Amino acid sequence: MNRFRNWLQRIMYGRYGQDQLGLFLITVAMIIFIVSLFTVPYLYLLSIAIIGYEYFRMFSKNRSARYKENLWFVNHTLWLRKFFEKIKYSFTEGRKYKVFKCPKCGQKLRVPRGRGKIEIRCRKCGEQFIRKS
Ligand SMILES: [Zn+2]
Repeated sequence: MNRFRNWLQRIMYGRYGQDQLGLFLITVAMIIFIVSLFTVPYLYLLSIAIIGYEYFRMFSKNRSARYKENLWFVNHTLWLRKFFEKIKYSFTEGRKYKVFKCPKCGQKLRVPRGRGKIEIRCRKCGEQFIRKS
């Protein structure tokens, strides 16, 4: 294992490596690949092309060019990453809570899941109501 790591370090020395754009490209390639299994079979060629491009980036020695690509990506996809973070949240932290709307003022209230019937007190208007958590 150590030998493998040394070998990998030697190979990667002076090369660019992984970044946010790289992770994004690989994710997109995976999604396209899965979609291609159910729809257009030749679509998988596109995912291979994307992964090929990302490998080119990872092993590239022109680090400043790759860095600029990544910077452009990071600056232009804030909304996209926020969207993915939201999805990730709903699968992790979001599972622990349930969100209710206050019947009086519409304020969104977050309560822990699985506590049975509980009384919720709105922190905005003080309204109390019972819901199953
Ligand atoms: Zn309220």
